[in-house]
This record gives sequence, C-alpha cells and structure tokens, in this order.
Amino acid sequence: MAQGLPCAIVSGGRPPETPTRSPGRLTLGPVKASPQTQLRLLELADLDAELGRLDHRRHGLPEFAELARLEARASELKDALVVTETELGDLTREQGRAERDVEQVRTRIEKDRARLDAGQVSAARELASLQSEIESLHRRQGDLEEVVLELMERRETLDSQHDELTAERDSLGSETAAVAARRDAAVKEIDEQAAKASDQRGHVASEVPADLLALYDQIRKGKGVGAAMLRAGRCEGCHLSLNAADLNVIRASAPDEVVRCEECRRILVRTPESGL
Ligand SMILES: [Zn+2]
Repeated sequence: MAQGLPCAIVSGGRPPETPTRSPGRLTLGPVKASPQTQLRLLELADLDAELGRLDHRRHGLPEFAELARLEARASELKDALVVTETELGDLTREQGRAERDVEQVRTRIEKDRARLDAGQVSAARELASLQSEIESLHRRQGDLEEVVLELMERRETLDSQHDELTAERDSLGSETAAVAARRDAAVKEIDEQAAKASDQRGHVASEVPADLLALYDQIRKGKGVGAAMLRAGRCEGCHLSLNAADLNVIRASAPDEVVRCEECRRILVRTPESGL
C-alpha cells in the first residue's frame, strides 16, 4: 500500500523507542487521504481535546467533593441524634421512676404524720419508732429529690445537645440543597457544551473516510490525541522536533500520504506552517 517508501507499516507495530532517533525511520501509514481531509483530523483532535477537557471538568467539579463531605457529616449527625434520642428516652423513664419514688415516700410521710397528728399512737415505743421512721423517710426523700435534680440537669444538657444537632442537621440540609443545585447547574452547562462539541465531532467525523477515522481513533484510544500538526518541523503532539532525515522523508512523500510521528506515532498533519 505505501508506495516505494521505506516504512514499517502502521499494522507492523511500533519500532523500539530510542532516546535519539536514527534518521530515515519515519513510518508512513498505508492510509491515504487528501490534504484537506487530513486537515479535518486537526479539527477532530481539537474537538476531542475539548470533550476531554469537559469530561475532566465535570469529574473535577468541587461540588462533588463538597457534597460528599456534607453527606458524611449528615450521616454523623443522624447517628448522634439517634444516640441522643435514645439517651433522652432512657432518661425520661429514669426520671419517671425517681419521681414516683419521691411521691411514694411523700405519701408515706403524710400518712405517718396523719397518724401522729390524730394521736393514734400513744405508746412511747411506737411513737419513737414512728418518729424515727418519719425522719428516715425525710432523708430518703431528700436523696431521691437529689436524684431527680441530677436527672433534670442531665436532661437539660441532653436537650440542648439535641437542639444543636437538630439545628446543624437543618442548616446542613439547606446547604446540601444549595450545593446540589450548583452542581446540577454546572453539570448542565458542561453537558450542553459537550453535546455541542459532540455534534460538531460527529459532523467532522462523517467527512473523514472510514479507514483514516479508524486509524485516528485507534491512536486516540492509546494516546488521548490521534493527530497533531507538524509545525515548524515539530510534532505538536509530543512536542519533539523531527530530525532532518525524517523531515526529508516527509518532504518527499506525496501530499496524500498519511504521515506519522516516529516518536509518538500520532498522525502528523502537514500545513503551510510545517516548515517543509
Ligand atoms: Zn510526535
């Protein structure tokens, strides 16, 4: 297919890389295309680069990281709220028990008092025992009331903790909604630009012959960029200058030969700026 030129054909695999290139190893592909068609590859490369940039931008949107952080915090808050609510439930039961205990002791004291006041107890020993019982009940009441007070204090702390957690959860909710809206807007804008570039790419690709497009896409899959301009003797793909021998081979090759860079294997597109 490649006519009369020293070449390893495209399908022939890549020659081993060497830091300094020996002259005359420039590979010419078997694909032929008019210079105008080859120029379209540069448009294609620009559009592919644009699509790549948009994809990169989409993935790198700071809103994604921000949302992940907010979601992690929301999950922490949810757990903390469950713990606090469980503690509050336990505390309510404990408080109820303690208050009932206080009430029981109080009732017992009132009963004992009533017996005393009614003069129902006259025997000195019984009287002394009843008075001693009332005293001990008073101490018990004092202890129990202290327990109730402590429980109330703990509840106060837990209540304010619960309020703080709830407030943070609510503000986190609106912050998350705002960031998600920003992300959606940014993604929408990127998607619109990508759809436009993709349409253009489809249009340009439809004007490139199938064999050349297949070669371009095959290189692009491996390299990210399938074709580059030869500008002032330099490959714009790998940014290396071609040696004189390689440039001579390109000069000698017909305009419809599809030339490839010996270094990066990309399709080299010749333009008036190529320095040939
Ligand atoms: Zn190159």
